Amino acid sequence: MRAVLSIGSNMDDRVELLCTVFTEFREDIVAASPVYATPPWGVTDQDEFLNAVLIVDVDESPKELLRRGQKLEEAAERVRVRHWGPRTLDVDIVDIEGYTSDDPELTVPHPYAHERAFVLIPWLAADGGARLSGEGVAKRVAALDPKERADIRRLGMMEEL
Ligand code: ATP
Ligand code: CA
Ligand code: CA
Repeated sequence: MRAVLSIGSNMDDRVELLCTVFTEFREDIVAASPVYATPPWGVTDQDEFLNAVLIVDVDESPKELLRRGQKLEEAAERVRVRHWGPRTLDVDIVDIEGYTSDDPELTVPHPYAHERAFVLIPWLAADGGARLSGEGVAKRVAALDPKERADIRRLGMMEEL
């Protein structure tokens, strides 16, 4: 099963926390985006995020993959203070090839992916041919507000940081 993961952190050692996800999936990663610095989305009075997208090939089920991401969040001692608030680590499943779900526990594609520059821009960098719900991600990126696009800064590949 091929899946697209969006990972983010805006607390503590953000590079190190993102690195835990790269390490967990090192055998499964098909492609990885660079790491980007991105403005907070939804709740804007919080620190800047680091975000990246990983494309992975895994044997487990969608729910098992979700659980694997949640274990990394737990290991990062993530505490939910408020919705869309600051977090040490967030691991979201953006999309799974050939699979859709409207289960609130695991909604695929992720319901906000199509409007989040911090997901779309890294995803396109990892996979130039990426498609979301049948539409090219490149087209969606091109349709983003230029200001929103400009606010997403490429820092470099994970191994360079
Ligand atoms: P958002 O989902 O809007 O990015 P968030 O990442 O801050 O917000 P969380 O508090 O991390 O939200 O997750 C809340 C719940 O979302 C999780 O318990 C999980 O079961 C559920 N969920 C539903 N769909 C997904 C998905 N595609 N990827 C990750 N979690 C999901
Ligand atoms: Ca999220
Ligand atoms: Ca999440």
